[in-house]
Amino acid sequence: MSELRELYQEYVLDHGKNPRNFRFPDGATHEADGYNPLCGDKITVKIEVEGDVIRDVGFQGQGCAISTASASTMTEAVKGKTLAEAKQYFDTFLAMVKGEAEPDLLDEELETLSVFAGVAEFPMRVKCATLAWHTLTAALEGQDEVSTE
Ligand code: ZN
Repeated sequence: MSELRELYQEYVLDHGKNPRNFRFPDGATHEADGYNPLCGDKITVKIEVEGDVIRDVGFQGQGCAISTASASTMTEAVKGKTLAEAKQYFDTFLAMVKGEAEPDLLDEELETLSVFAGVAEFPMRVKCATLAWHTLTAALEGQDEVSTE
């Protein structure tokens, strides 16, 4: 686990400082605001959906390094994927950060997500890590906002 923890720290630092897809897609079709009152993280996720494929996705907002890094990872993970695949990723991610799934059971596509298995050791941070995913789901389900409360 220590190697994974080291990787986790490096990864969160990198993506927390330089988040990927930190912008909104021009042709966004879905959007939602997410709020984590426990930590104060706030993000807006916008998605461009065509058919059942996520063509583009981006986010903006203010939050701790974990929430930002997780949002960055989320956008990279679901871009170009089908809605069903994105849902599957979310379920797996959720189980992992809650410590209910082992990272080494994940397939290669989910390798970057597995870095967040380290969060399971810090229950207070689980909501930081899942905020972007809840917000993505809310947007896809047509909700304007979601709170992790
Ligand atoms: Zn946070």
